[in-house]
Amino acid sequence: MESRKYAYLFAEGNSKMRELLGGKGANLAEMTDIGLPVPPGLTITTKACNSYYEEGRNFPQGMEEQLKEAIKDVEQKTGKEFGSQNNPLLLSVRSGSVVSMPGMMDTILNLGLTDETIKGLAQSTNDQRFAYDCYRRFIQMFSDVVMGVEHYQFESILEEYKMKREVKFDYELTADDLKELVEDYKVLVKRNTGRTFPQKPIEQLEMAIKAVFDSWNNHRARVYRKINNIPDHLGTAVNVQSMVFGNMGNDCGTGVAFTRNPSTGENLLYGEYLINAQGEDVVAGIRTPEPIASLEQDMPHVYQQFVDICNKLESHYRDMQDIEFTIEGGKLYMLQTRSGKRTAAAAVKIAYDMVDEGVITKEEAIMRIDPLQIDQLLHRRIDPEAKLTVIAKGLPASPGAASGKVIFDANKAEELGKAGEKVLLVRTETTPDDIHGIVIAQGILTSRGGMTSHAAVVARGMGKPCVCGCEAVKIDYKEKVLTIGDKVIKEGEMLSIDGSAGNVVDGNVPMIDPELSSEFLQILQWADEKRELNIRANADTPNDATKAREFGAEGIGLCRTEHMFMAQERLPIVQDMILAENQTERQEALDKLLPMQQDDFYGILKSMAGLPVTIRLLDPPLHEFLPSSEDLITEITKLKITESDLELLAEKEKLLKQVRVISEFNPMLGHRGCRLGVTFPEVYAMQARAILQAVADLRAEGVEVYPEIMIPLVIHREELKRLKQLVLDVAAQVEQERGITLTFTVGTMIEMPRACVTADEIAQEAQFFSFGTNDLTQTTFGFSRDDAEGKFLHHYVDQGIIENNPFAVLDRDGVGKLMKTAVKLGREAKPDLKMGICGEHGGDPSSIEFCQQLGLNYVSCSPFRIPIARLAAAQAAINNKDQ
Ligand code: ADP
Ligand code: MG
Ligand code: MG
Repeated sequence: MESRKYAYLFAEGNSKMRELLGGKGANLAEMTDIGLPVPPGLTITTKACNSYYEEGRNFPQGMEEQLKEAIKDVEQKTGKEFGSQNNPLLLSVRSGSVVSMPGMMDTILNLGLTDETIKGLAQSTNDQRFAYDCYRRFIQMFSDVVMGVEHYQFESILEEYKMKREVKFDYELTADDLKELVEDYKVLVKRNTGRTFPQKPIEQLEMAIKAVFDSWNNHRARVYRKINNIPDHLGTAVNVQSMVFGNMGNDCGTGVAFTRNPSTGENLLYGEYLINAQGEDVVAGIRTPEPIASLEQDMPHVYQQFVDICNKLESHYRDMQDIEFTIEGGKLYMLQTRSGKRTAAAAVKIAYDMVDEGVITKEEAIMRIDPLQIDQLLHRRIDPEAKLTVIAKGLPASPGAASGKVIFDANKAEELGKAGEKVLLVRTETTPDDIHGIVIAQGILTSRGGMTSHAAVVARGMGKPCVCGCEAVKIDYKEKVLTIGDKVIKEGEMLSIDGSAGNVVDGNVPMIDPELSSEFLQILQWADEKRELNIRANADTPNDATKAREFGAEGIGLCRTEHMFMAQERLPIVQDMILAENQTERQEALDKLLPMQQDDFYGILKSMAGLPVTIRLLDPPLHEFLPSSEDLITEITKLKITESDLELLAEKEKLLKQVRVISEFNPMLGHRGCRLGVTFPEVYAMQARAILQAVADLRAEGVEVYPEIMIPLVIHREELKRLKQLVLDVAAQVEQERGITLTFTVGTMIEMPRACVTADEIAQEAQFFSFGTNDLTQTTFGFSRDDAEGKFLHHYVDQGIIENNPFAVLDRDGVGKLMKTAVKLGREAKPDLKMGICGEHGGDPSSIEFCQQLGLNYVSCSPFRIPIARLAAAQAAINNKDQ
């Protein structure tokens, strides 16, 4: 059987061979190819790694011969000889998978050193000390990485020597010290492994290659691949490269650099180097490195060459590069290049600048920015320069940072907030009753509840920073203090949170505003030119609507009327309406609500003048507006009991807590939404009137408005037909009263499986569909989001039963199929039926891509995610075009 090619010289590869050579190997080959000074070497392929596993962890046939052949070539190019006692070739062995992956094997330097070859190294470099420094580093790295002798054991021997000699730094030890140290190292290895440190260079090399292959399947690497969806079959390549020495004196050094500033994007070389150092000394913090600019003074010639190479690499790869280099005897060598990781701000600036410089196209600029990453740019955050005292950690529930006076009660928060104070609302958890406090607070901190708790969801919707489930925070509502460990914070004292990191920070901290740089706005405009989906906002108040417009919303996709019902002064009237014992009582309450709702709609429609606004009629079950039965029971009991058995009480309270934890909130899908409209038509009639009178008022003022009245939770054509008629009847009345003709549309949310599969029927009555994917996901899966996310969903994701949380990333195979059916049936019945999505998925890039594929007209998301959606929609359009 003819053996495959398993070993490629750097001169034989290029950057397109990533799959085979791994990222590092492919780029080393590419740099060699474009004539940069790369120490000669070779790459053992990922295929060899796969075959190694297929052969029961044995090198595939032919690999060893090819390796030896390739080494010969390296010997020739370097003029050194592997294993020579006069002028030995030393090698580095570096792992390199296709996708860069932490957890893979550490690099081994100076391989090939033995008791024999060390003599040659000392001789050829005329430097005993240098030679033994290399040997001790090699023994340490090799034994740690390949033979499993832990690093710290070597370090403690090294420490002993430094103490004995009364010196502070490694480099102060003499050649004789190091010689002795090496002997001690070898004894340590023998004692720990039962074998002598390998003294044959080729054996060292083969052991190192095996270790790299084995590291592909170590625990860390496997876990990392799972989390990041990297397929196991990719395998890793191994790079074997001739060493260059940055530790041979003061005309030597090693460093790392980015071709542009990776945190701001500024087009300036950015990096650090150390004179007379090897390998990872720069990052290990042994000495403080110098900024790259100082190299201009230290070695002007090398600096100029380095700058030229950086420019060359950047224009070759057409992207900012992250570069590793070493200087040996005043000569520069390139050891690695790759696309540099960067902050969102840098990503935006670099993409924009590169278009400006004519390096990339606008389309490429759009594709270069991760929509999820730009979330960083849309919130106020803590000044990265600030010194922080983090005193507790919770869940990063809603991004952005906030400082304010600690307040434990929503009413008090509102009072102080209205008086112009900055407050931080701190509660064990929040409920709809706290909404007025949340609205006014700078941020929310809760000691209980998860990423989908009330506080988290509401805060995200408002773009307000929130840290949830911070269990270290103990709140005593009575004494009005919170404690974290032994730290006591009284009500009114300053505290800060970082909702992006989940940190609770002591005192006040300096903030910086979101950076909607001109570059960012420009890229969003380019995105607007490319995208096909319209972007709307989910917004319930004129304030949100204004914010949404600023961010570029092209209308409102979901305005929820129940949030208006929750306002403090309205809730009692809403309760009167619900609890009314007869028609007259109910109408009285509705009459009071009408002008209030009309005001709301007037405000929203006006702030979205010229753009469509979808208003959903009342949706939640009515009990949400009433106090909970549990609370009532407690209150009643309290009133009844005068003397209580404290022990029993404690026991019962504990039980109640447990029951609450275990109880499920299966999706409440019964008497709500359009079912309320059917049973209490006067409620929907009032809302329709409020909307249409607001429309009439605005028309009279000459304001252009496009209301879309949306009926929720429809499962049957007949429901929609009747409720639409109800709206049309109200419209006819208003038209007559005002003597005008109103323009508006009536449509429905598609959020129940039955609606999806009967969409052709429902379409007959609808002027638009809006997919409510939150409820559609709950009803398709048959469990409620709260139960799922709080209890078992993360197990499902961890165990790989499902890939993503379907409430965050739209489930294409299940929910998506129902949507596809609905789109198809709906458009068959009405080819120009307008369709959009208004679930939280409307702000998620992967879900937006799916909406593009479905051919929807728009996505709607929270105001703060609009820039993300604009960018993601452009990317989806570009990707779609490519297919
Ligand atoms: P990582 O993937 O962790 O960056 P590398 O394989 O790039 O690991 O190796 C880490 C460091 O080891 C390099 O930055 C460089 O300083 C040093 N190194 C690797 N190969 C060589 C070599 N052939 N000559 C000199 N130093 C090397
Ligand atoms: Mg590296
Ligand atoms: Mg719904």
